[in-house]
Amino acid sequence: MPAGLYVHVPFCSGKCPYCDFYSITALDLIPLWIEGLAREAALMAPLWPEPFDTLYLGGGSPSLLSDSELTALFEALSPLGVIKGSEATIEANPEDVTPEKAASWLSRGVNRISVGVQSFDVRWLHDSLNRRHTVEENYQAINAAAELGVSLSLDLIFGHAGQTPEEWAADLDKAANSWADHISAYGLTAAPSTLLGRALASGAAPKLPGEERSSELFMVTGEALAMRGFERYEVSNFARGGSVCRHNLKYWRREPYLGLGPSAHSFDGRRRWANASSVRRWAAALNRGERSLEFVEELTEQQIRLERIMLGLRLEEGLSVDLIEPSEKLTDLVENGFLTLVDSRLKPTPKGFMTADALAKLLA
Ligand code: SF4
Repeated sequence: MPAGLYVHVPFCSGKCPYCDFYSITALDLIPLWIEGLAREAALMAPLWPEPFDTLYLGGGSPSLLSDSELTALFEALSPLGVIKGSEATIEANPEDVTPEKAASWLSRGVNRISVGVQSFDVRWLHDSLNRRHTVEENYQAINAAAELGVSLSLDLIFGHAGQTPEEWAADLDKAANSWADHISAYGLTAAPSTLLGRALASGAAPKLPGEERSSELFMVTGEALAMRGFERYEVSNFARGGSVCRHNLKYWRREPYLGLGPSAHSFDGRRRWANASSVRRWAAALNRGERSLEFVEELTEQQIRLERIMLGLRLEEGLSVDLIEPSEKLTDLVENGFLTLVDSRLKPTPKGFMTADALAKLLA
């Protein structure tokens, strides 16, 4: 089975207060990062000789790379093969998606743009998320993608302090009525290490919605998008016309993928590992012909079963019922409308999707 190739572009023009990814604003490190990528690709090529069938440039903000940096990036990846015509995604910030830049991405084989619009309501976009782009730039990005006819995914965030289900439905409607064929909708979270996490802990930021409101917002997501022809295929991901993200499906289906760049994760079917979350450390190790890894884990049979259950319960396709021991708990979950049994597969219902992680704990 061909694997997916992920490249982590850790650079951003600023740090969003809720961001928990490895991202930095030291753009002067871009040349060092490209050098590291070339070394990492050359080091991994003999171990991953089969061509990849998805490519995902994620971040960070891959869209801030200049044309010449992008040329250098693709050159760095050249020891690794990617099957021609494979799904190739670039993550982009709305302010970067100009017709010229988007055309340049397409000329390099990119055929899917994933734009972090986050919201079409200025209150959430600026007051809650402190994003650096405008609502107008969201529309400019969408128009640029539509003009090129390229597959477009929009990322949205819900669960802002004081947000009502009606307000969230209105945001979803704007995304669903656009050119996009894929929408990812994530609840706002605030890890303790983030700026938002610290502001919430000190009382400087208004409280995020409680359990009841969060559940309402979650349920509205599926309903509003279904009305516009978007089908949920994963807890937070929706597609119309079958435009699922094949690269991300590899993560949930436990298919192999190689991650390059600082903090990138990889999986070869048996082992998981993650690169160091530091451009300098990651690049220095590669300079010595080594890799700086944050962890390596060889999965046991028991861990593999747990992963299958946890990940399967996030997907509309569900998981084989053979993975779960028959039990009263399982019967209760089916009878109470959290799961359905279809053709020997256990599938989450909308209520089940909302509690997917808790269900996995109960059933594992
Ligand atoms: S643009 Fe994305 S990756 Fe960069 S800081 Fe904001 S949320 Fe994080």
